[in-house]
Amino acid sequence: MQRIVKNKKMNWDTYTSYIKKLSTRYPHAEVSTCGKSHLKRELFSLSLGKGTNYVLYVGGVHAQEWITSVLLLRFYEDLCDRYACGGELAGLNVREILSDRRLIIIPELNPDGIEIALTGAQAVGEYKAICEKVSKGDYSCWNANARGVDINHNFDAGWEVLHQMERREGITAPSARRYGGTHAESEDETKALTRLCRELPIRHAIALHSQGEEIYWEYGKSMPPKAFLMAKIFAAITEYTLVKNEGLASHGGFKDWFISEFSRPAFTVEVGKGQNPLPISQLEEIYLKIEEMLCIGIIM
Ligand SMILES: [Zn+2]
Repeated sequence: MQRIVKNKKMNWDTYTSYIKKLSTRYPHAEVSTCGKSHLKRELFSLSLGKGTNYVLYVGGVHAQEWITSVLLLRFYEDLCDRYACGGELAGLNVREILSDRRLIIIPELNPDGIEIALTGAQAVGEYKAICEKVSKGDYSCWNANARGVDINHNFDAGWEVLHQMERREGITAPSARRYGGTHAESEDETKALTRLCRELPIRHAIALHSQGEEIYWEYGKSMPPKAFLMAKIFAAITEYTLVKNEGLASHGGFKDWFISEFSRPAFTVEVGKGQNPLPISQLEEIYLKIEEMLCIGIIM
């Protein structure tokens, strides 16, 4: 059968049509939303499996890293396909590993920003003017949401420290990247994700970003049980490098918040290598490198 999710750039219309088709074709695919973006685009939450033992994967946090959304949606289709036929993915029987576990995937946490990165300022209605001003016409490097807030600088984990660091770097207002907002959790997208994590007992979380072939796994002084072991296994499978937080990537991220809030493991995985936005031609190669990690992540 032909795959629904193609190795192509995925604007909002394509994304929503894929999700509709996936839910029609695969009877076990569960599609819901965990909230809406600032411009009221649905934050789709796709799940598969049974029970209340949850693992969460998030992509499309940074707009120009839209390739992560395609990767996660494609992974979800592969899982649904194998689940339906009782087949294997990366050597694991998908129906078996999801018989008492449930995977939740949010492929696009920042749909407004991704639409800007792919199609320009007209995608964001009333925010067109501010978007034109701060991007200076080059939308391909847009990372923030429609309000010019970097969602991965907006979580409540060392936000004040990060805010001071941003100010020292001259980032004091909405921007295409690295502006953390007026306060932690000021953004609809951030609130939607933190609400979901507070409502469900999520065992661990992986956020996909690009690029660098690196895995970030720690935050602050507390080290959740199993976190380092999992990070080492993920690194061994992907041949990615384990790295420590530095500079403006030290606080305010989803992984940082998840670790400090719940003392459970969370990872930022920087997929691919090159200059963002990574070309869609890299998708297949990246997918093959991370597929096994995404499968193993479900059972760890
Ligand atoms: Zn990123």
